[in-house]
Amino acid sequence: MGLTKEYDVIVVGAGHAGIEAALAAARKGMRTACFTTTLENIGAMNCNPSIGGPAKGHLVREIDALGGQMALTADATFLQMRLLNSGKGPAVQALRAQIDKRAYAWAMRLVLERTPNLDLKQAMVQEIVVEDGRVRGIVTATGIFYGAKAVVLSTGTYLHGRTIIGEVQRSSGPGGLAPAVGLTESLKRLGFEVGRFKTGTPPRVDGRTVDFSRMVRQDGDPEPHRFSFMSPLDHREQLPCWLTHTTPASHELIRRNLHRAPMFTGVIEGRGPRYCPSVEDKVVRFADKESHQVFLEPESRESHEMYVLGLSTSLPEEVQIELVRTVPGMEEAELMRPGYAIEYDYIVSTQLKPSLETKLVRGLFCGGQINGTSGYEEAAAQGLIAGINAACYVEGREPLVISRSEGYIGVLIDDLVTKGSPEPYRMLTSRAEFRMMLRQDNAHLRLTEKGREYGLVDDARWEVFVALRDGIEAERERLARTVVGPAPEVQRVLERLGSAPLKAGVTLEQLLRRPEVRYEHLVEMGLGRPDLDEAIWREVETQVKYAGYIAKEQQQVDRMRRMEARRIPPTLDYQALTGLSMEAREKLSRIRPETLGQASRISGVSPADVAVLMVHLDRLARARDRAEEA
Ligand SMILES: Cc1cc2nc3c(=O)[nH]c(=O)nc-3n(C[C@H](O)[C@H](O)[C@H](O)COP(=O)(O)OP(=O)(O)OC[C@H]3O[C@@H](n4cnc5c(N)ncnc54)[C@H](O)[C@@H]3O)c2cc1C
Repeated sequence: MGLTKEYDVIVVGAGHAGIEAALAAARKGMRTACFTTTLENIGAMNCNPSIGGPAKGHLVREIDALGGQMALTADATFLQMRLLNSGKGPAVQALRAQIDKRAYAWAMRLVLERTPNLDLKQAMVQEIVVEDGRVRGIVTATGIFYGAKAVVLSTGTYLHGRTIIGEVQRSSGPGGLAPAVGLTESLKRLGFEVGRFKTGTPPRVDGRTVDFSRMVRQDGDPEPHRFSFMSPLDHREQLPCWLTHTTPASHELIRRNLHRAPMFTGVIEGRGPRYCPSVEDKVVRFADKESHQVFLEPESRESHEMYVLGLSTSLPEEVQIELVRTVPGMEEAELMRPGYAIEYDYIVSTQLKPSLETKLVRGLFCGGQINGTSGYEEAAAQGLIAGINAACYVEGREPLVISRSEGYIGVLIDDLVTKGSPEPYRMLTSRAEFRMMLRQDNAHLRLTEKGREYGLVDDARWEVFVALRDGIEAERERLARTVVGPAPEVQRVLERLGSAPLKAGVTLEQLLRRPEVRYEHLVEMGLGRPDLDEAIWREVETQVKYAGYIAKEQQQVDRMRRMEARRIPPTLDYQALTGLSMEAREKLSRIRPETLGQASRISGVSPADVAVLMVHLDRLARARDRAEEA
């Protein structure tokens, strides 16, 4: 076993998490290596050809604000974009893009290859080398040792991957690629608790064999969108998706074949994602429903392959062939790939710190599906934080921890490390408590400064951001300062909008706070600034209109911050705190929260337990003060 090279940071995996981790570390100046079982799967989208949507779109914007890559590559390779919930409030609006999978993966590979300080390597990593509780490097399946000060694991669904189609089971990673063997055993030897999850994907059909005239066409929005304000607004030709549905014949076929469905025969042991159920699961769980929606989504501009959203299944292939043909428009459809289920190993995420470093091994970080999550965006968000913090660890710098009030990334990671997840964790807007503050439209305002502080926001991005931030502030000031009286052009527009006429002078801010008055109406009244960048006036409008809700959330955030500021000593002996319930003692000892806030979110830790902890922390603080005075 010879040493070939010494790195600062080694990233195992070049999926969505590994890409962000490797880029973050390399862009922060770390000598970085990124390992993948094959160079052909870099940035592979193994399931749906889309990025974004509710909560996930928020994550993409936050990744972008911190200087990550996903948004930029999605903007460069989208096939269609839509702003979901555009008629609803800003907290639930979300951008969703259909992505050209092939173009996306290739673009990501080129970004990695062109990044200084970054070596790409095809090799199966089988062992994590640890010395004195600190990571020292990795060993590949061919016996080569690479040294590193920090290692990020982003192995996705590859660890002991097993795919299942009906009665056929194979030891395999996604898409028929080789599974990763050996690494799980290495993790277990180091003392990690490893679990087993499952996920699944639908069949793909040949678009040339589909009768789209029997489906409902779904186009992208006519006006261009983008995830990143650093991308140009692109008017490229968009490809449509198609809506159809299952039929009673589909459901009857599934019921007849349940005895061959691995989901129901006990062949699949791992827990699957509740929010992406297989079609056989839907038919059983919602037995009285006569039909479920099915969307056909293009996988690439260059290919006829279509993803059949809604028909995720691990039924035998011959049943799948019959199944798609029970769906209107697919009577003649030819399968290009069958759907399948995949089981894989993950590590129990409560073994991680909020920095995503493991509690057991210093310098070892985990990000992505290995932490029990599901989804590209969830993976990328964690990969970015793991990569930044691996670099911080090497630099001897405090890690970057995003709080729950700063971003969905904070919610995601806090949930994982504090509560863990009994099933693949997917980001949902309902998981965030401060939804008015954590909007997708203000992600850059929330996080760009952090990205800059941690060295990932370059000068070009910073300049654009500063212009936006200052523009918003200046316009808000102008609206708060400028008083308008009952001038005829103002009254005319107000009357048309059904809004009460002005009797005396009001500020523009007060005027804009009226539900029926939009910023463009101010422009019409001659009171807005027609030359203002759309990103600025839209943000100003949201801030003004929702100021009341935002202020209320801010009060809750302040309360939470006070709890987060109370740090708990890492060596605290919870068993000695007899005032705590048994359950709290057990969970606090196992999870070892870093702050009182984190402790309060552990299930089984009651408000009474938090009060006991608070009293104890006060006592410790007083003792410390006395010791300092003496
Ligand atoms: C069949 C299937 C269905 C899915 N369904 C859904 C769904 O319904 N909804 C949803 O949101 N998401 C779904 N996903 C999940 C989505 O694809 C993942 O969440 C996402 O790709 C995870 O990203 P990642 O970077 O963590 O891992 P991956 O994208 O899986 O990348 C893992 C990387 O690690 C490398 N690797 C692994 N082990 C080693 C090793 N020992 N040595 C070297 N390299 C290694 C691999 O080669 C690869 O580069 C599905 C995935 C699959 C496979």
